[in-house]
Amino acid sequence: MCQVTEETAPVTKVMHESAPLEADYLVIGMGTAGMSFVDTLLTLDAAATVIMVDRNSRPGGHWTTAYPFVRLHQPSCNYGVNSLPLGKVRNSKGDEKFDIHDRATGREVAQYYERVADHFRQSGRVQLIFNSEHEESDDGDHTITNLSTGEVTAVSIGRKVVKIHTNLLVPSMRDGPPFDVHPAAKVVPVNDLPTQVKSGKYGKYVVIGAGKTGLDSITHLLQNGVDQSKITWVISRDVWYFLRDGYIREGKSYWQNASRLFTPLGKASTIKDAFLAYEKDGIMGRLDPINRPFPEVFKGATIDTSELEGFRTVKNVVRMGRVTSITNNSINLEQGSIQLSATDTLFVDCMADLDGSFYGYDFDEKFQVFEPGRINLGPLCTVFNPSFSSAIIAYIETTFVEDDGMKNSLLYFPRGKHATPTPSAFFGMLFAQMKTIEALGKYPPAMKFVLNSRTNADAPLHHGGTIKFLWGMFGPHQIAKKGNAFAKKVEKGGFADVQDCFGHGRPVPEADALKAKKNKGGNNKSKKMAVSYPPKAEAKKRIGFNCCTTINAVQ
Ligand SMILES: Cc1cc2nc3c(=O)[nH]c(=O)nc-3n(C[C@H](O)[C@H](O)[C@H](O)COP(=O)(O)OP(=O)(O)OC[C@H]3O[C@@H](n4cnc5c(N)ncnc54)[C@H](O)[C@@H]3O)c2cc1C
Repeated sequence: MCQVTEETAPVTKVMHESAPLEADYLVIGMGTAGMSFVDTLLTLDAAATVIMVDRNSRPGGHWTTAYPFVRLHQPSCNYGVNSLPLGKVRNSKGDEKFDIHDRATGREVAQYYERVADHFRQSGRVQLIFNSEHEESDDGDHTITNLSTGEVTAVSIGRKVVKIHTNLLVPSMRDGPPFDVHPAAKVVPVNDLPTQVKSGKYGKYVVIGAGKTGLDSITHLLQNGVDQSKITWVISRDVWYFLRDGYIREGKSYWQNASRLFTPLGKASTIKDAFLAYEKDGIMGRLDPINRPFPEVFKGATIDTSELEGFRTVKNVVRMGRVTSITNNSINLEQGSIQLSATDTLFVDCMADLDGSFYGYDFDEKFQVFEPGRINLGPLCTVFNPSFSSAIIAYIETTFVEDDGMKNSLLYFPRGKHATPTPSAFFGMLFAQMKTIEALGKYPPAMKFVLNSRTNADAPLHHGGTIKFLWGMFGPHQIAKKGNAFAKKVEKGGFADVQDCFGHGRPVPEADALKAKKNKGGNNKSKKMAVSYPPKAEAKKRIGFNCCTTINAVQ
């Protein structure tokens, strides 16, 4: 079996082969998607065995290489896996409360995944293989190559291979920036920014990128005493930002705030109108609403209103497209160049998603999650929530009989032209989430899973319980009614710029088309060996309902 090792440098394959490994599922990728899938799989299938493989030396995917000052965009309460809390703010029962100030740092997220991995090991049903690359031959044979030793191990898969299909590329994963740099110019990945700022060596900073990473870098510079006049900001495309304190207003209940998200959708006749209404209400923001055209990009980057105000104090903003090269006295861009001595300048590489996708999310029209012998992870069937989306996929896998068509019919997620980082895609994701939950609602036991999942941002356990949930849904805020009105409007082509239901025009499956397994956990032999999962202390029973994700289900 491959050994866990800290080394990461790839070596030439020596084709030294070791004895084959065997498991029901081979899961490639120990990022958020893979970890959440396996957590739900182990919880709901008491016999399933799993091999997990990752080319990194730790679990956690991109969080293991993230920049030191990164935090979650959204509260910790619903990030990660269903069985283990991440949030620190709890109620008297120990349930995590939705609190926009309780956002784990990147380091905390990575440590959290170490704990999840320990739980996987304790189950006795999961082998975790790090520092190894998975490959599949044209004949469908699966091998794992240890990146340090070159040792190749074949894997025999009892049921399915489960592979992550997002292709997230953050600056620290690249070998330098994707353009020519003069040797005199100092370009660093965002990860090095804190050390470089502390060194006090630089009189000027050029931040390249306006996504979440670029924003965090500007905030880091300002918070560490760098004067605005010393910052130049290269923005290739104007972007919308989600304003967390503008959406979740202090003093208002979660449901009151959720209602504010739906209200403008009733009046807006285009997606553009809806975004402008959000901007007016302080839910969305952009750098320059006065002089710049309506931004066509929205990637879900979430910031505080005070941060946006800080960004606006940076006046040296360069909007000439992408950087094409950096010389010793200029930055060259697609639409021009600016003179700037490289001598005491630090260039900060904050460019993620160079391919223009969002977080490596790129699925064509034909992409399916369930295929014969295979599960494809990555699609978001819930709004910007890879944790809950993967948990739902594992729920479907463990609950329903082997019929890929039926399983796929339960999932709606952005594909093709709708899988782009645009304002429209945001509403497409909201619509997809509502359709997915409506489809799952055709099988009533699925609602128990949806309602009790901690990775579900709307789960009542995060917001004061069932009564408050019902009040939010059917009380004066009318979330259920407004949500349904939005869905109907989309279906009737009520938004002039969305005439194809975001690609989700097909009806949800009929209840009698959904066939659940009679007995979960097919492999009786290994059942004897199984250790209960999750570990007892974590397996806290929860009872509750859920909100706008479940509007259709509870009607
Ligand atoms: C700076 C930043 C902040 C973010 N903040 C948030 C946030 O607050 N909330 C949120 O919901 N999302 C956030 N995201 C989005 C983020 O992409 C997701 O939350 C999530 O972490 C993605 O997980 P993943 O499993 O899809 O991918 P990854 O984290 O990229 O994990 C995939 C793993 O698969 C492994 N792998 C792939 N192919 C192979 C192979 N052939 N062999 C071996 N290993 C392989 C990789 O090594 C990697 O470890 C953020 C993204 C970035 C860049």
